[in-house]
Amino acid sequence: MIAMATDANNKIYPLAFAVVESESTETWGWFLACIRRYVTGRRHLCIISDRHPGIQAIFRDTNRDFLQPPMTEHHYCLRHLCSNVNTRWKNETLKNLVWRAASAMQERKFNATFNLIENVNRDAYQYLKDVPKEKWALTFDKGYRYGAMTTNVSECFNGVLKGARSLPITAMVKYTWFKLNSYFDDRRNKSIDKLNSGKKWCQYALDIFMRNKAKAEHHRVTRLSAQQQAYQVDTPHNPGTTGHGDHTHAVNLLQRTCTCQKWKLYKIPCSHVIAVCIRYRHDAEQYIDPCYSVDALFRSYAPVFPALKDRLSWPDPDETRKVLPNPRLIREKGRPVSTRIRNEMDESGGRPRTTPWKEGGERCNAGCVTKRGITEEHALSGTRYRRVVVLQTRYAKFEL
Ligand SMILES: [Zn+2]
Repeated sequence: MIAMATDANNKIYPLAFAVVESESTETWGWFLACIRRYVTGRRHLCIISDRHPGIQAIFRDTNRDFLQPPMTEHHYCLRHLCSNVNTRWKNETLKNLVWRAASAMQERKFNATFNLIENVNRDAYQYLKDVPKEKWALTFDKGYRYGAMTTNVSECFNGVLKGARSLPITAMVKYTWFKLNSYFDDRRNKSIDKLNSGKKWCQYALDIFMRNKAKAEHHRVTRLSAQQQAYQVDTPHNPGTTGHGDHTHAVNLLQRTCTCQKWKLYKIPCSHVIAVCIRYRHDAEQYIDPCYSVDALFRSYAPVFPALKDRLSWPDPDETRKVLPNPRLIREKGRPVSTRIRNEMDESGGRPRTTPWKEGGERCNAGCVTKRGITEEHALSGTRYRRVVVLQTRYAKFEL
């Protein structure tokens, strides 16, 4: 099992790994409890996972209050949800509509697409209606996801650990440990270089900010109240953009809101907020969340892995048992047969296409998963570190 997060630059950040006998309610419960105990105790920790029954059962268990709101917000991986829909109804159009509805940032766009889903397939509509909206639709998320919709980040890290496959237990743990140490050492050095360069923000946030700033040049700003810092922002009609422009949004700098919702969902000022800041000479960069800062990136990788204890200094176990090889696991002649269950996602080659009218066009939430990467990820998902959970949170926000 692996738990992954994203760092200040939206790159994968390994949080924890464990080797267990099998996936079950018990093992997932133990793993998540360890994370809550040893890795982070922060409130509103967003966990994105597929809907494996073992994971679902844990989050339904109200005795585990550390996995209930407001401590933990459990959300679903959109790619798995779309895959479930396509497995049941085998309809690509429907699958793309589900993706579009879930990725919509404004409620009106969600409702419009959800109504389309009802017209295309009423059973699928009812199926989705029974899933709490805040668990799969971005517009109802309240910003816990930081815009991440899938568990891609964790699955692509399987590639880094693929050499651990089928190793004996001690070798597997050591291999993983050394790989992670090397990953952290490399990222630590890069984060120090960035810190020394004097940059304040990581490239991920800066790219989004600069794109929004370019769009802001064409917006028209009207101040509604200087005291309340309330503004109306109109965008001109532009057939060249995906959203075609011609929208009106309300910005409130005091409440840190814009009706387009992007500011709340991504914690980076949208073009409307930047337009207001340019017009009234505010520093728009101050509204980028500190979790995207170079300083936060540096602090994420600052802790150093301790050297492993020498084998002779390991504590003796309380009881000793003679370990015998399991005859059922002796490899037979020929190429071993994969026990991995192939599903709809293996056939379709990954996520559905993004909606053509989504503002900003195609987006890669994982940061590291390219179109090619998605294919590779499926090829590698037979590793022992299979079903995975993304703890989608900026690690820099953790108290180290
Ligand atoms: Zn906006």
